[in-house]
Amino acid sequence: MTQCKQVFIAFWALWIVSLSAMAEPIYDWQSPYDEMIELSAKSPTEVLNRLLQNEPSETHDNLAIAQYHSSLSMVYYLLSFPNESLQHAQTALTFIDPKAQPWLFHMTKLNEAQAYDISGKPRNGLVGSNAALVWAELNNNTNLLVSALYVRGIILNSLVDYQGALNDLQRAYDLAPKSTVMSSGDVAGMLALVYEYRGEDSLSIPFFEEAAQYHQQNENILELSIALYGLGRANKNVGNRELGRSQLEQSKEFAEQVGDEQGVAYALKELAGISLSEKDFVGAKFKLQRVFGIFEKSQNVYMLLDTNLSLLKVALAEHNPTNARQYLLAAKTFIDPENMPMQNVALEEMHAKVLALEGKYQEAFNKLDATVAWKQQLLNQQSTQQLHSLRSKYEIDLKERENRLLEQQNKLQQISLNDVETKNLQLLLLFGATLIICGLLVVLVYRTIQNRSKLEQLANIDSLTGLANRRNAFELLQKQIELANRHHFPLSVAIIDIDLFKKINDTFGHAGGDKVLKSFGKLCQNTFRQTDVIGRIGGEEFIIALPHTSLLDAEKTLKSLSLNVKKLIDSIDLEGLRLSISTGLTQYTPGEQLESVMVQCDQALYQAKRGGRDKVVIFDEQDPSLLQLEL
Ligand code: GH3
Ligand code: MG
Ligand code: MG
Repeated sequence: MTQCKQVFIAFWALWIVSLSAMAEPIYDWQSPYDEMIELSAKSPTEVLNRLLQNEPSETHDNLAIAQYHSSLSMVYYLLSFPNESLQHAQTALTFIDPKAQPWLFHMTKLNEAQAYDISGKPRNGLVGSNAALVWAELNNNTNLLVSALYVRGIILNSLVDYQGALNDLQRAYDLAPKSTVMSSGDVAGMLALVYEYRGEDSLSIPFFEEAAQYHQQNENILELSIALYGLGRANKNVGNRELGRSQLEQSKEFAEQVGDEQGVAYALKELAGISLSEKDFVGAKFKLQRVFGIFEKSQNVYMLLDTNLSLLKVALAEHNPTNARQYLLAAKTFIDPENMPMQNVALEEMHAKVLALEGKYQEAFNKLDATVAWKQQLLNQQSTQQLHSLRSKYEIDLKERENRLLEQQNKLQQISLNDVETKNLQLLLLFGATLIICGLLVVLVYRTIQNRSKLEQLANIDSLTGLANRRNAFELLQKQIELANRHHFPLSVAIIDIDLFKKINDTFGHAGGDKVLKSFGKLCQNTFRQTDVIGRIGGEEFIIALPHTSLLDAEKTLKSLSLNVKKLIDSIDLEGLRLSISTGLTQYTPGEQLESVMVQCDQALYQAKRGGRDKVVIFDEQDPSLLQLEL
């Protein structure tokens, strides 16, 4: 299929770029290559001659030898020599290590696949092109991907899987602008060709036009010739005979210009078809015989078959059964039924026509009948394949949709999980904060209680002696008075004053005096009961209230206190200390006020002092000295 030639120019460019990027030594015969890329489009025969004159020597390494054979394979392909192209691609492969040079390996496998295709064995190229495609996709290699899609598209087209071919070529067409090896103009020509094979000439025309325009702009004469060939053929088929004829003639001229003999043959074969439709049998035969000669030289199996079928059509049109049978038999030698199923069906249809021309109508009918069934089977196979590919595509889409749905569900779950986690964290933080606040509150309450009790202590207790202070002592006394009034129990009250305390202060200093006060306070605490009231009401003055205590018992206790005070002197570390107390004692009379009780105590104390101190005096209303005092 010379229509696919343009891709090889691109391959070649890619090839050279890749080799120079491999940091391999530069070979003495590599320099003309850049020139050859240019030339291959304009004059492939010249490139072939140059390559044949620059055969690598034994000193060249494997890579250089691989490069040489691949280049030859491409040029032979461009010139439509299937056997040579295949042979050189396979030789090149023997010099490549697939593990060390995977890219190079797949690229050369694509060369081989194309060579197989024009050798009439497209199926043999399928594995190689599939592998190249997979490798290119896995390695994100756009250049190789475009090339692999293009080659597989061509192969699928030859295998009559037009839908598969269109899928690949459409992908290659979309990817081409992103690659450096092919333009969409390059792929357009091949896409157009598949539409044409599918019998959709009108769909092929815009693609052929795009390809022709692109190659004209780039002055790629060889490709322009190919695109014009396709365009001319399509126009001819849709009924634009004159436009088609002129395009085919242009194609032939451009092919001649670049020495593409087979390009000339392709155009001529189509022009012969036009001659046949105009019943110019001589013109048609003349052209076809030239065409046959060219394809025979290149051993182009497809076209040899095709040319024979065209000659057969002329013979049928001329009603020449001898020629018809001759061309039929010739055509059969070029058919490979497994690889060319559609062509085989077409040939069988022609066979039926030859039989009819020979007058063997029954045989012709049987042949045609079998052919129709066979054709139907092939078409069914094709549509089954399409159905399978559609179904698997649908299933893939469905799976993708399911996956997307699952992904979304997962995301939602993740979001709600995150939400719960955030909420838990917030709760934990809140709990922690509450705990801390509670702790602080407990401390605060504890401190407050402590402070309050301290404050209360400060407010109620005399700091020096630890006894109730004056205010507290009178409060406590008031309570005892109230209790005594209510419960009628005896209550004795006394005021104690330390004798000549001024002198103690003078002798031992204020600190010495304090020491004495402290010791006396302690003695009081040890002497009286818990329920008794003991308070310091002045500098060295103390009040004692003894509930449930008769005057007599109180006197006894206070006298014993006076005695113990003297014993205290030993425990106080003050040299020469003399210590005594005077006590004024009274018995509470129910109904009396506190002030009255205090006056009584004071009077008794006064008596004690006047009586020489160091005594306990009980208040006595009848005492004349008391009267004196009142006066
Ligand atoms: P009398 O036997 O007549 O009671 O003689 P006195 O010296 O004890 O009586 P006075 O009331 O004249 O003296 C009391 C002294 O107690 C006067 C004062 O300086 C002293 N004083 C009052 N409060 C304190 C105190 O808290 N500490 C000390 N060290 N002395 C105090
Ligand atoms: Mg006093
Ligand atoms: Mg005193």
